[in-house]
Amino acid sequence: MPLTNEHVRDALRTVKDPDLHKDLVTLNMVKDVRVDGEDVTIHIELTTPACPLKDKIRDDIVQAVRSKGEELTEPVGEITVEFSADVRSPNQRTKDNGNPLPDVKHVIAVGAGKGGVGKSTIAVALAVGLAKFGARTGLLDGDIYGPSLTTMLGLDDIQAKTRGNTLLPFEVHGIKAMTIGKLVPPDKPLIWRGPMAHGAFKQLATQTDWGELDYLIVDLPPGTGDVPLTLTQLLPLTGAVVVCTPQKVARDDARRAVKMFQQLGVEMLGIVENMSYFVGDDGKTYDIFGRGGAEMLAQEMGLPFLGAVPIHMELRANCDDGQPLKNWQVNEELAEELDRLCKNLASQISIATMSGKFVQPTLSIR
Ligand code: ADP
Repeated sequence: MPLTNEHVRDALRTVKDPDLHKDLVTLNMVKDVRVDGEDVTIHIELTTPACPLKDKIRDDIVQAVRSKGEELTEPVGEITVEFSADVRSPNQRTKDNGNPLPDVKHVIAVGAGKGGVGKSTIAVALAVGLAKFGARTGLLDGDIYGPSLTTMLGLDDIQAKTRGNTLLPFEVHGIKAMTIGKLVPPDKPLIWRGPMAHGAFKQLATQTDWGELDYLIVDLPPGTGDVPLTLTQLLPLTGAVVVCTPQKVARDDARRAVKMFQQLGVEMLGIVENMSYFVGDDGKTYDIFGRGGAEMLAQEMGLPFLGAVPIHMELRANCDDGQPLKNWQVNEELAEELDRLCKNLASQISIATMSGKFVQPTLSIR
């Protein structure tokens, strides 16, 4: 009997998404199967365009369909696997239901135990990197005490625009961004009492016209202050990422940041080790801060480790110049590390989505 559409679907029932541990048919990832003589074309819809497991899924599909052919003693010709992606939302809540951003599928907080560890640098890299893979991505500068996105995204010469009470995001480097740095004079000290900090953050988050987004990355202020609390009260968070440098003092602070998110009931999507190591002009690798420290912390706390970013002079220079996309052009190793970070985060987001563990906000906005 020649191979039929149903035979191919049967074969796909034996292929599991390696992250989500369910088969492709159950996960509703098989969008189309076409059998044309001996040739088979399969369309798979991934849960993120930044899927790190595309090649593995393709190989497993080819193997499963060939095995099916052998079982039926039918020849199988060319097997083509086409991919598309649709980021799934964990969030079924509508605006009437108290969600101020119902068109944003995932809100991801990026925090750190202390300042200067590269939290904003990593938040920018994650946002721009996910957009490079094709995801619709926004970046909110939630660091209302020390906003750095004006510089890091090169917004100095761009005028902020509003429509009525709505802030229009800056559309740069493939993402939509908003920062308080563009709404107040640059030399004005940003001193917020608790309720004011809450109000400022709420306004930035909910009055910006984000449109439809797959991912909204929120760069939080360092430490464990008011803003993370406001964020969890206000928006349905998919989870949080903590950025940490490898040395012990940084790890101790990062541990506190992780515990804060956990206490707020926020899923920890992973830890990033920034300034992990340095490769000199001599080609030698120097473990300035003790490479692997943050990875150890992740292991110790049972959290995913998303990746390690080296100290790189170009990374600093591109941040200062507001040219984040250049980080993918100057150095292959750096580009690979940044891509890995984005893919690992996207995969943890998909895993969290399927697990259905989400903290619901306690503050309703109508
Ligand atoms: P935070 O948000 O944690 O305060 P930033 O992201 O503002 O930290 O980074 C602080 C400084 O360190 C910035 O000048 C940034 O360009 C630089 N920096 C961050 N990560 C790296 C890195 N991996 N290599 C080189 N410079 C870095």
